[in-house]
Amino acid sequence: CTIFNNVEQLPPDALFGIKQRLSQDPRPVKVDLGIGAYRDDSGKPWVLPSVREAEEVIRQDPGYNHEYLGISGLTALIQGAAKVLFGEDSAALAEGRVVSTQSLSGTGALHVAARFISKFCGDKVVYLSDPTWANHNAIFETMGLKTATYPYWDAASKSLNLEGYLEAIKTAPKGSVFVLHACAHNPTGLDPDQSQWTSILDAIIEREHIVLFDSAYQGFASGDLDRDAFAVRLGLQKLADVSPVIVCQSFAKNVGMYGERAGCFHLVLPRQDASVDTSAIKSAVLSQLNKITRSELSNPPAYGAKIVATVLNTPRLTEQWHKDMVTMSSRIIKMRHALRDHLAKLNTPGNWDHIVNQTGMFSYTGLRPEMVKRLEEEHAVYLVSSGRASIAGLNSGNVEYVAKAINEVVT
Ligand code: PMP
Repeated sequence: CTIFNNVEQLPPDALFGIKQRLSQDPRPVKVDLGIGAYRDDSGKPWVLPSVREAEEVIRQDPGYNHEYLGISGLTALIQGAAKVLFGEDSAALAEGRVVSTQSLSGTGALHVAARFISKFCGDKVVYLSDPTWANHNAIFETMGLKTATYPYWDAASKSLNLEGYLEAIKTAPKGSVFVLHACAHNPTGLDPDQSQWTSILDAIIEREHIVLFDSAYQGFASGDLDRDAFAVRLGLQKLADVSPVIVCQSFAKNVGMYGERAGCFHLVLPRQDASVDTSAIKSAVLSQLNKITRSELSNPPAYGAKIVATVLNTPRLTEQWHKDMVTMSSRIIKMRHALRDHLAKLNTPGNWDHIVNQTGMFSYTGLRPEMVKRLEEEHAVYLVSSGRASIAGLNSGNVEYVAKAINEVVT
C-alpha cells in the first residue's frame, strides 16, 4: 500500500519525550522538572483527600453506575464549575448569559473554542502570548485558524513587557481573538498585576477584540480560588455590555484530575437590547456545541465529572478541597524559596529572585538550552529546553541537589 509513503515520521512531543528519556535513564538519582503535574514531598503523585472522599461518596451511592452522560455533560459539574470560576455573585450567571458544556479537560475546551471560532468567525486571527503553552498553537492551527503572537515576557528584566503587549492589542486587526492565561501563566509563571489587567482589558475593549480566557490553574496558583479568578471576573465585568467572552476551564491541576479529563467550555454572552431574544441565541449556541461534542466524543467522560461535581457541591468536601489547594500551592511556594536560597548560598552567578516572584506550577528559570542540556546529561535533572522548570518536581530531598546542579552548569 502506497499511502504510507506519505506518512511522515514526526519528532516526539517535547514534553512527553522528556518523560520517555527520564524513564530510560539508569542513573539512581534523577529529577523530573518537565511535565506540569503536582508531586508531594516524596516526589509521588498526590490524590487529594477531597477527591478520595468524593470517590467514596460516589461508590456508596445506591444509584452508582457507568451510564452515558448527556451530550453536554453533567449538569452538576457545569453549574458548579461556572459558579466557582465566575463567583457566587456573578452578574453573568444571575442574568442567565452563560452557555456551558462539559469538555475533555482544558485541552478539549480549547478545541471546542477553536472549532466554534473557525466555524462562525474563521477569518479572525488568534493572538497567543509569546511564549505560551506549546499546545495552544497546535490546537488553533489544527482547526485552520491563523495565529499570531503578542509580546509578553521581557527576557532581560524577567518581567512583563506591558508596553509591547498593549501595542500588539492596538495594532491587531479589529475584532481579533486574544487568548489570555487567567492565572499562573504557562510557561513563565508571570501574571499581570491588577492594574496591568485593567490596562490590558481596556485596550482590548477599545479594539473590539474577543477575549478567550484559558483557566487551567484556578486555586492552584495562590491557594485561593477568588484571588486566582481576578482576571476572569474583571474581564466579565468590563465586557458585560461589549462582547462575548470565551472561557476554557480545566480541573486537571486544582483537583488533581490530570488523567480523568474533567473540564468545561463556557461562552458568556454580552447583555443584549430588549429586542433581542437571548434565550434563542443561547439555545442555538448550545445546539452547535452539542453538534461538536456528538461528532467527536458522543458524550463527555463521566467518572471525573462526578468526582469534581461531588467536590464542588458537597460543602464538607469543598472545604477540604480548599485546604488541599493550600497544601499544594504552599508546598510549591516553599520549594521556590528553598531553590532560590540554595542558589544564593552557593553564590551562583545572577539574580534568582524571579523564582520566588513567579507563581503557579512553573518557573521560567532563564537557563539557556545548552545549560538545560548539561543538566540532563551531567546531572539527570530534566526540564524543557526553554528553561521552564516544573517546581512541583522539587522536594526537600532533591532541591539542594538541583541547586548544586544548576550552580555547576551556570558557573
Ligand atoms: N492551558 C494551559 C495554559 C495549560 O498549562 C494546560 C495544561 N498543561 C492546559 C490548558 C490544559 O490541560 P488539560 O487538558 O490537562 O486540562
